[in-house]
Amino acid sequence: MTSSEKEKISGILRADLHMHSVYSDGLLTPEELVEKAKSNGVEMIALTDHDVTEGCGPMRQAADKAGLQCVTGVEISTDFASEPVHIVGLNIDPQNSALQTLLEKIRLSRVKRAERMADNFAKAGIPGAWEGVLKEVTNPSLIARPHFASWLVKKGLVRDIDEAFKKWLSSGRPGFAPRTPFSVTEAVEAVKSAGGVAVLAHPGRYKLEGWQFDELLKQFMEAGGVGIEVTTGSHRPGQAEIFSDLAVRMNLWASTGSDFHRPGNRCEPGLQGDLDRRLRKVWELF
Ligand code: AMP
Ligand code: MN
Ligand code: MN
Ligand code: MN
Repeated sequence: MTSSEKEKISGILRADLHMHSVYSDGLLTPEELVEKAKSNGVEMIALTDHDVTEGCGPMRQAADKAGLQCVTGVEISTDFASEPVHIVGLNIDPQNSALQTLLEKIRLSRVKRAERMADNFAKAGIPGAWEGVLKEVTNPSLIARPHFASWLVKKGLVRDIDEAFKKWLSSGRPGFAPRTPFSVTEAVEAVKSAGGVAVLAHPGRYKLEGWQFDELLKQFMEAGGVGIEVTTGSHRPGQAEIFSDLAVRMNLWASTGSDFHRPGNRCEPGLQGDLDRRLRKVWELF
């Protein structure tokens, strides 16, 4: 008996509530994501593209067709102590105007940042970034750093996406420019306005001191955030245990997701590790 068969018998659901598609900086369509997730035993799925909800409809259609439960989702780009912090909104109403107003402002800040990044490349002696990046964008309303990375790979300036981030696109590197910051509080409030559940994404990835992380969690919970990702493709081995303990201690609902963007990066849909039995699962709220 495979482990997923055992889990089904014991009543544990396999979920993947964090992934990206061509509607933001992922390489696959919702249909392709559903196919991969299903073959990995996923029963409940959410598309959480960066700052856009356009993929939610196609994702629901694909999931319905394949017999998977589908939850609407989004991953909102915020900032805390100069560190990019991501808030996942699950079971949201994508039509909600407060949510869409915030997402539109964030997308606009992405365009402005991309223009400054293109200027930075020109100053570094590499012209044509703006035109080049636009060819990599798969949703005209969402531009992100991985689109710059693909352009750099195609130009032959770096071997792969990872090298593009290391040499050019990470904070402090020559192509980087910061976005206008958005607060964790406004993102959580927008998710709540849209009737959704706010989840702190990949908590183990933030470069924050212990006391700063405590402050982040305090701000998140005071705004009404109630969930935390415990198993994610963005975590290193050992971090699932740390954040399981934190979820129990802080009485947070546990979420799980691959953070899948493209084959070969992070883990495949559904394979981020199932949640510990003692955790309260976020889907009990849906
Ligand atoms: P942005 O939201 O435009 O600032 O871009 C951040 C996105 O870049 C993340 O969501 C990841 O998909 C991707 N990313 C960040 N760091 C790396 C890295 N070192 N290698 C590959 N992709 C990365
Ligand atoms: Mn991404
Ligand atoms: Mn993220
Ligand atoms: Mn993500």
